[in-house]
Amino acid sequence: MKIVVPKESLAGETRVALLPNMISTFTKDKHEVWVESGCGSGVCCSDSQYKEAGAKIVQDVSELYQAADVILKVNPPRLHPQRNRDEVELFREGCAIIGFLAPLANQKMVHKLVERKITSFAFEYVPRITRAQSMDALSSMATIAGYKAVLLVANRLGKIFPLLMTAAGTIPPAVVLVLGAGVAGLQAIATAKRLGAKVEAFDPRPAVKEQVQSLGATFVEMELPKEDVQAAGGYAKEQSDAFLRKEQEAIGARLGKVDAIITTAQIFGKKAPILITEEMVKKMWPGSVIVDIAAEQGGNCALTEADQTVERDGVTIIGTVNLPAAIPVDASLMYGKNIINLFRNVYKSGTTIDFNDEVSKGSCITHNGQIMNDAVKKMVEGGK
Ligand code: NAD
Repeated sequence: MKIVVPKESLAGETRVALLPNMISTFTKDKHEVWVESGCGSGVCCSDSQYKEAGAKIVQDVSELYQAADVILKVNPPRLHPQRNRDEVELFREGCAIIGFLAPLANQKMVHKLVERKITSFAFEYVPRITRAQSMDALSSMATIAGYKAVLLVANRLGKIFPLLMTAAGTIPPAVVLVLGAGVAGLQAIATAKRLGAKVEAFDPRPAVKEQVQSLGATFVEMELPKEDVQAAGGYAKEQSDAFLRKEQEAIGARLGKVDAIITTAQIFGKKAPILITEEMVKKMWPGSVIVDIAAEQGGNCALTEADQTVERDGVTIIGTVNLPAAIPVDASLMYGKNIINLFRNVYKSGTTIDFNDEVSKGSCITHNGQIMNDAVKKMVEGGK
């Protein structure tokens, strides 16, 4: 098969779906790999490195997409800024794509994938089962985001993280509150601890307390209405307004004591819950910092502006949406491994896809002119 890797067309994207040292994984299985010229520029990999690794370099993205049997991509197809055409229209009819596709937020794209009989696999729907952990790009990218969020805090905060006992006096450690302790949150806790901060965290899922404590952080106990908070696959369920109001009160009680907050709370497929209101920001000391990892899903802080850094009442609120793009080399390394593992799972029997396989079936959004994923089908048929 011809496996193709474009240069990501999203502004500010630095990641690439395959690094040069991953090309041989495909060529040794008798596949050809074609890459768009410049695809590795964000990770400092030149066309000649890709060529030496066995890839064919293609200058024209239309030629690349027209040759494709399988397209390996990071971001969902979009309006191509140079071609001024939707990328799906440039794809060869009947080819396949593997990548993040955000199908629930992108109904038009789903229709186009159906029309052009594209077989599409979305990382967002890789089932969260043990066997699929090596294909879980959501978790890989959340790990990078959690790490980077701490560095953004450290960079902006006018304080140092660790306790320092110096001849000029004792400096207390910075206090960091992490809200939401899933993959990104746990990595943020671990990173802030490594830098020496005092870390507190909260997540409504019952299993999380022990995970937070095992990283040396304090779990913030909250008196909240009893609700079923755990959905399938490890995700949290959407909480009631009463639950969120109580949670906001409990967070509010901590605000005078924290220097920084990293928010990561998300509900799969829904808008992120508001955990910090405008009023609550006023209770924070001027100079404190919020990094809102949920910015793209609407944000956990009411004042977050997606992809902006804003200052309100002296508090800096950072809403950077693509944190993994700030660490492109390791993000691409992890992503590339995830994409290779998903590719191998989907095409383990050659070009025939086994839709009885839980991972291939679960992650498939469209195939042969049909929507394969129930949640996406419901959204498209409901016209929502
Ligand atoms: P996510 O990105 O959907 O959400 C991030 C966190 O926000 C979650 O921990 C969630 O509980 C939390 N949250 C939701 N509402 C909140 C609120 N009101 N206040 C505070 N926090 C709130 O989730 P994720 O990080 O991708 O994954 C969550 C969990 O899924 C993981 O911790 C893990 O247990 C599980 N998981 C399992 C696998 C696997 O088995 N293969 C892979 C990845 C993750």
